[in-house]
Parts: sequence; C-alpha cells; structure tokens
Amino acid sequence: MKKLMTIACLMLLFLIPFLQKASAAESTLPAKWEELTAPDFVKAVSQSKKVCVIPLGIIEKHGPHMPLGTDLIDVRAQVLNAVKEEYAVVFPEYYVGQINEARHQPGVIAYSPDLVWKMLQETCNEISRNGFEKIIFVNGHGGNNDLLHYFCMSQLSEKRNYTVYLFQPKTDANEHKKVDELMKKLPPSTGDHAGATETSYMMVVRPDLVKIDKASTQSGDDLNRLANLPDVFTGIWWFAKFPNHYAGDAKFATQDLGRAMLDEDVRQLVRMIREVKADTKVPELQKQFYEASQHPLDTKQ
Ligand SMILES: [Zn+2]
Repeated sequence: MKKLMTIACLMLLFLIPFLQKASAAESTLPAKWEELTAPDFVKAVSQSKKVCVIPLGIIEKHGPHMPLGTDLIDVRAQVLNAVKEEYAVVFPEYYVGQINEARHQPGVIAYSPDLVWKMLQETCNEISRNGFEKIIFVNGHGGNNDLLHYFCMSQLSEKRNYTVYLFQPKTDANEHKKVDELMKKLPPSTGDHAGATETSYMMVVRPDLVKIDKASTQSGDDLNRLANLPDVFTGIWWFAKFPNHYAGDAKFATQDLGRAMLDEDVRQLVRMIREVKADTKVPELQKQFYEASQHPLDTKQ
C-alpha cells in the first residue's frame, strides 16, 4: 500500500508541470480584438493594462512583385509577434490612411482626406469607449508619417480620456548592428519602397506572397523629375520620383536581412509597449493641460 502511495505521489509530481501548462494555455487570451469573445474581451482589457495597439497599414502597389497589402501584412506581423511577449489587444486590420499619390495604380484604396481623418479619430474614440486608456499607433506605411504626427498633435484640441502614443523607435547602434551589417552588403539605393529591404521583410513574414521572378519586370529607379526645385516640398514629389510605386531593386533581398529587421522591430516594440504600460506622465500632463487650457488667463505669466 505504502509503495502504491509512493508511486501515486511520484506520478502526480511528474504530472504537475503538464497540468500547469494546460491551465496556462486555457487562460491565454487571443491578442486579436476580432478573435476575442465578449466575456474574454473584458478580461483582455484588464490583462492588457488598458493598452490597445493599432497596426496601421495601407493598400498600395508594391512594385510588380509584392502584394498590395504589404505594409498591412508586415506591420501586423511585427505587432502580433511583439504582443506574444508583452500582451496588448491588437485592433483589427486597419488600412485607411494617406495614399493619394498612388491613385493612378491598380488596386489602391485611397479614401478622401476627410474620411481618413474621421475614421482614425472615431476608431480611437471607439477603442476608448470599450475601456482602453492608452492607444499605440504602429505605422507600417511611410505615407502616413505626417498625418500621424498631425493627428497626435490634434488630440490636444479637446479633452480626451485616453492618450495616443506613436511608436517611433530610436536606433540603438548595438541593437542595430546585425541589420546594419547586412544593409551594407546591399548596393546603394536598392532598398526602400518594395525594394531590397521591404522585400526581405516580406520574405520572412509571408514568403509565399513574394514573386521575386517578377521583380525586374519594372524599374525602381528614381526618375528625379523635380531636380529643378531642390528647395521645394510639393504633393507630387513621390510621383515625380517613383511613379511605378517601386523604389530600389528587390533582387538583392535576402531572408537574413528580413529576419534581422523583424527581430529588431519586435524587440523595440516590446520595450515600447512596456514603457507605455508603465507611463503615468502623459495622462497626468494631458489632464493638467486640458484643465489649464479652459482658462488660459489663469496660467502663471
Ligand atoms: Zn510599403
């Protein structure tokens, strides 16, 4: 009997780690907003410390060899990898952004400027109405950069009960070493939009979507058609340079570079999500600012 008890105890000890693992798996919540049930959504808001991430992509031509959704697919891969390490809820596929310069290309979705703005503001409002207090923008599309900076500044125009954080990582020389070494192997001006760098990324995220044999069927050269205006910014600048929506040369893409870039991006983003979760400064200052802006004459001069 005693022997039997000992065997039973030993078996139990052996099983404990497996049982723990099973219950941990059961309690793991999906990160994707659209995959959560309503009861689990309530738990996810709390588990994320009220942090929701919007990966911002676009539907835009990417040379003759990559999918229209390249930016959306890449940025979501980055975010979904990061939230495996630092949990946050990830907003559904978001492709409403600034892409007027590609309206002459097939398959592009370029909503009107008013709608792009309204959609983003209302998306933030809806995220907040659902209990989140911090919203992180992770941008996968260069054409959104100015829009997002202006949008962030515009959040000060009226009182909001949430804060918006744009992921804008500082490059750490040490962390960037591997990417830097691999980048140096690329011939000059072969990276950029749908070029060697972006194609490398997609070769890791969704290799099945890269048609590398088509990469040289169009030119990714800079046509530089506004060389007469070196001191000017104008909306037609991108069309003047890269009307094919291809900048660089994808044939130099490698999976090694893509892997190194993705790893660096994920590491930086994990760190940023942690910093945002811990942050109390932005909400505090924002509250102070909204109050003070109600009566500017009382602001100490
Ligand atoms: Zn892109």
